[in-house]
Amino acid sequence: MSIFTDYKKEIMDAAHNDRIRIALSRAITSYRANTNDALKKFPHTIKMAEEVKEIKEKAIGKMEELAQQAGEAIESNKGKTYLAKTANEALNIIGNLVGKDKLIVKGKSMTGEEIELREHLEELGNEVYETDLGEFIIQKLHSRPMHILSPAIHIPREDVAQLFSRITGEKLPPDNIPRLVATARKLLREKYFQADIGMSGANVVAADTGTLFLIENEGNIRLATGAPPVHIALVGMEKLVPTFGDACKVAEVTWRYANYTVPSYVSLVSGPSKTGDIEKVTTYGAHGPKEFHVIFMDAGRTELAKHPILCQALYCLRCGGCLYECPVFAVTAGHFGDKYFAGIGAVWAAMISQNVEKAASVAYTCLTCGRCKIRCPMKIDTPEMIVELRKLIVEGA
Ligand code: SF4
Repeated sequence: MSIFTDYKKEIMDAAHNDRIRIALSRAITSYRANTNDALKKFPHTIKMAEEVKEIKEKAIGKMEELAQQAGEAIESNKGKTYLAKTANEALNIIGNLVGKDKLIVKGKSMTGEEIELREHLEELGNEVYETDLGEFIIQKLHSRPMHILSPAIHIPREDVAQLFSRITGEKLPPDNIPRLVATARKLLREKYFQADIGMSGANVVAADTGTLFLIENEGNIRLATGAPPVHIALVGMEKLVPTFGDACKVAEVTWRYANYTVPSYVSLVSGPSKTGDIEKVTTYGAHGPKEFHVIFMDAGRTELAKHPILCQALYCLRCGGCLYECPVFAVTAGHFGDKYFAGIGAVWAAMISQNVEKAASVAYTCLTCGRCKIRCPMKIDTPEMIVELRKLIVEGA
């Protein structure tokens, strides 16, 4: 079957799947209420989002320069940095750093999903644990993420209870969500301290200080990047902004539109752990990781940045807000997409994953209704990008 036929079947099956609709309607109601409350409580966010858009517009035009600057800052702090021009280069760099037979705890990373990092590490003979609760559920169900922030958004509690009951052998009731969460905690807890390597992405990176910002609520990223002796971070180059101050603004706008109001944790990582507490002799590897490796990945981003309309895709903060407003996503979840979802996902499929057939399928499913643009803090004009993408696809460009 062709990609088009597979996609049509997948999206129609999803649209007739009541469980997806139930899970999403619960999530959409809660997202809208929480985000609207958060914006009322912190009204400066709307103005700050305009500033962030300007920061991103400028940064996207000089990603290579910013990667160089961030690399120097991290190296001066005794971290190691790498520039991967392609997804394969990124996989090779990480594969060489990791080797085989390692236990890896991993925080959720869309960039990791983009290059199928977990699958690659498993093929090399490593044991990989997704530690984000949603990703853990997806991994155990052998499914794939259906939302950029809430990967298991399409899976109702009944299915989670069934899955965890199967893993633990206990009968877990679906209505007791705290018990389901506690079960995942128990299953993963010891892995952080047994792991050889912790992996993460980054929400934003300050080039001047080489600081990675990691936003989360669960605390799994803190543990995954803090407990093992080695931390490896894979970062798409569009995450770079010039200064620490810029990165703080990007982070705040991201979490506010991501339904976090104030996140439980924001970790800032600029190098490996160190101490000078014994006779002021700097020694690396105190309580946290002894090694810190950052891979800045291009994989089509600098090319995309040159396109006058499609470059907007690189402004995306991955807050996920647009997905909650999209009428197609509301009934199909991430089946309407590729590695990234909904209308903007078509641009990523075409320009970054080079999956033109998938991009065309998604681009022609998009209604170009523009509801996403209204919610988007970056005011990314997805309908405009979709019209341009359709034109490029028809012209075979
Ligand atoms: S396109 Fe806009 S609303 Fe959607 S995830 Fe990106 S920043 Fe958020």
